[in-house]
Amino acid sequence: MKHISFAALADKAAELNQAGEKWHFHMIGRACIFSRLKNEYEIIIEIESTGEELACRFSEKPLSETRRMAELCYGPGFLNNEENSDDTITTDQKADQNEAFGTIMDRARASCAAGTAWHNHHLFPGCIFNPQRGKHSIVFEDESNGEALYAYYDHDPVKDLAKLEALFFAK
Ligand SMILES: [Zn+2]
Ligand SMILES: [Zn+2]
Repeated sequence: MKHISFAALADKAAELNQAGEKWHFHMIGRACIFSRLKNEYEIIIEIESTGEELACRFSEKPLSETRRMAELCYGPGFLNNEENSDDTITTDQKADQNEAFGTIMDRARASCAAGTAWHNHHLFPGCIFNPQRGKHSIVFEDESNGEALYAYYDHDPVKDLAKLEALFFAK
């Protein structure tokens, strides 16, 4: 794994977007089950065609950097896109709602209300951290007790992810 500056990481992401290359990222915190560093934060990019990983380390939680990476990965306005609101989803899509994700939203809201720390991940089908390769996954981690909840999807769960991340960044 190559460690580079955040500016270089963001440039690389923009470059991959321009080239139409598939990539995704993770922000890995100290309390994270995926953490390899334990005392530092890390933003990792995975380039899906090559399996290459690039990472940048931080001593403080890189909130604005994580938001920047989310915009690069999912598109600008991802976090405040009205298309991601419940009002715009059809009855069919509602029937299709992921039960495990419902539990995750309840836990996230409860953690926000209680002021306890939590964070989430979106694991792509080819992701090194994904226990069910081939599926998309949203992971919720309760940092107060180290518990992790997983919701699995056959499709890219962009709407569910936007809902959860809107809560995360509103903390
Ligand atoms: Zn985590
Ligand atoms: Zn990954």
